[in-house]
Amino acid sequence: MGVFGVYNVKNASSIIYYALHALQHRGQQGAGIVTCDKENHDVFHRQKGLGLVHEIFNEKDLSELKGELGIGSVNYSNKSINGIENVLPVYFRHRSGNLAIANEGHLVNFPELQAYFEDKGVLFHTDTDSELLAQLIKKDNNPRARIYAIINALNMMEGGFTFVIMTKNRIYACRDKYGLKPLCVGKLGDGYVVSSESCAFDIIGATYIRDVEPGEILVMDHKGLHGEFYSQFKRHNMCSMEFIYYARPDSDIEGCNVHSYRKESGRRLYRECPADADIVVGVPDSSLSAAMGYAEESGIPYEMGLIKNKYIGRTFIEPTQEMREQGVKMKLSAIHSIVNGKRIVLVDDSIVRGTTCLKIIKLLRDAGATEVHVRIASPMMTHPCFYGVDTSTEEELLCSHRTLDEACQCIGADSLGYISPQSTLESGLGRSQICMACFTGEYFTTLYSHEKKK
Ligand code: SF4
Repeated sequence: MGVFGVYNVKNASSIIYYALHALQHRGQQGAGIVTCDKENHDVFHRQKGLGLVHEIFNEKDLSELKGELGIGSVNYSNKSINGIENVLPVYFRHRSGNLAIANEGHLVNFPELQAYFEDKGVLFHTDTDSELLAQLIKKDNNPRARIYAIINALNMMEGGFTFVIMTKNRIYACRDKYGLKPLCVGKLGDGYVVSSESCAFDIIGATYIRDVEPGEILVMDHKGLHGEFYSQFKRHNMCSMEFIYYARPDSDIEGCNVHSYRKESGRRLYRECPADADIVVGVPDSSLSAAMGYAEESGIPYEMGLIKNKYIGRTFIEPTQEMREQGVKMKLSAIHSIVNGKRIVLVDDSIVRGTTCLKIIKLLRDAGATEVHVRIASPMMTHPCFYGVDTSTEEELLCSHRTLDEACQCIGADSLGYISPQSTLESGLGRSQICMACFTGEYFTTLYSHEKKK
């Protein structure tokens, strides 16, 4: 999922539209925009749909989404959260003021909080953390400033999340206290923008200011940009999968460029898991930077052995296994003249279920590769993620109950090697902490009812 917000910028909807294009890699199942039209008595306008950003919004839609304030979101779906009703932002009317919310990530205590409201007779329209946050905010009847209701609400939530909240005259950008999810703020003209990733700033001509801090609520309003901490507890445990797979290479996260991180991890991967081969091939697109690093460090030539059809979505975030497998077939081709007769080091960012890797190795062998040595620029994924990255259940993970040799056999490789957790941390030069719970099983939060699914 990806979120974006605009404060005090003309034609906010067009800005959000272009920004959501830049964030499209974070979710391809749906997208939505809500704006606030101050010239028309603070009316909120909303448009959302299923599909890619360019399929959902046309020029007419954007012209009807009037206003200088707005928030937007790209969504991916999983087994439990799908359908048009769950496409964000959610939007609520209330006598104390309208509210629109979009979020990324996942609350580990969602079932407990939802049950609390349901027991009080509240009906939910969606399965989203955003609707839950709206209920928590509106539960606070105290007539003091709204930020206190937001502070209280966020303190009841546990997990990895970012929220963008829009009222008629403010945008609030909130980040979980563990720092698991990325969120950064930029300047655009006389206004401000907030985004899951900094890559969205370039396309709209905004200037990066800083990352929202863990446990912080950053407010954009007539006073400018000002922050408030909802929690004194504060950690910098960024999701390592953001660096490894999820984020775009041109994004900077907490001062670290994603491409540079991946290239460094590729160099370290070679030092830890060398292979004797003729060429290095990266799996497009998220593994190319690590493959370049591996090639540079090893001196083995980097070659474009696989080519991607750019118009097919990412397989990892398709909602069902069948769709993911079909996606692999349609999106990658091996280049026969490059791989034929060659011993290949295939560099990939991660292996989740192993089905994609198995198919890619077969593609390379069918195109004449004589050996395929797989090198993975992340540690063995052995545990599920409960913070919003759909890495599947423990049973589905290739490495949850297999040794390295068994995993190698399963994907049909000649050899298999993974980078160590230590190098995963050290590739983010200067970082001292990072979330690696899906590789180590060491979760930063209480898991509530998810505990038994570990
Ligand atoms: S468990 Fe894995 S995917 Fe989930 S937040 Fe931590 S590093 Fe990211």
